[in-house]
Amino acid sequence: MATPPSPLRVRLLPSAVSGDGTLQYATSYLIDDSIAVDAGSVGLYGGPEAQRSIRHVLLTHSHSDHIASLPTLLENTLTRDGPPLEVWAGAETLACLHRDVFNDRVYPRLEVLTRPVGPAMVLHELASEREVRLGGLAVLPVAVDHTVPTLSYVVSNGRASVLIAGDTGPTERLWQVAQARQELAAVFLEASFPDEMHDLARRSMHLTPRTFGLERAKLARPAAFIAVHLKPRYRDQIVAQLRAQGIPGLEIGEAGREYRW
Ligand SMILES: [Zn+2]
Ligand SMILES: [Zn+2]
Repeated sequence: MATPPSPLRVRLLPSAVSGDGTLQYATSYLIDDSIAVDAGSVGLYGGPEAQRSIRHVLLTHSHSDHIASLPTLLENTLTRDGPPLEVWAGAETLACLHRDVFNDRVYPRLEVLTRPVGPAMVLHELASEREVRLGGLAVLPVAVDHTVPTLSYVVSNGRASVLIAGDTGPTERLWQVAQARQELAAVFLEASFPDEMHDLARRSMHLTPRTFGLERAKLARPAAFIAVHLKPRYRDQIVAQLRAQGIPGLEIGEAGREYRW
């Protein structure tokens, strides 16, 4: 009897170290236990042994809630002669890592971290709409609209794909790309601020429940629309405003849950 194909597994990682675990202070996802998207909290998740199965990190952008635990992940996964940690991001995000993080002030420079067998971490530059293959997965970066250059990622195992939209304000091209993906199962989309704070959301290029609903309407196909990146101070308000709209496929992201498609 043929074994059933393995599902695409995406875990929305928690970031609260105590108290209400649903609150999301930083962003990280773990795909099939081996690929992280963003490094806000992944370096604090599980033990070093479990983190060592993470071979690739895809960064959406350079804001601290998306990169904060990258040095910790590197520290936890570093071995004397094992493979390097492979980090994938757009050119501006990589430049920021060099200039602002691995600079001998915040953390040792990458050159200092080199081992006899080679570098501890390898940086790979991604370009919007140029697909790369990581393990058995195809990853398509698509640029979105945020205050710094930001990439979203469509990750596919051939049978199902999931879109991790990153931080973004209203955007267009992403939905054209998503529209063409017949196998699209789910979209993780941010809803950072309540509707009352629409002016701040507009200026900081984030979404509110109302603009989340408008973005969802740009995609004419069924998919789970999982709301993430809800600012903890306003979480209850944002959830109520999202639910009040009857948005097709809406789910509220549950930190710690592994989603399977
Ligand atoms: Zn951001
Ligand atoms: Zn963010």
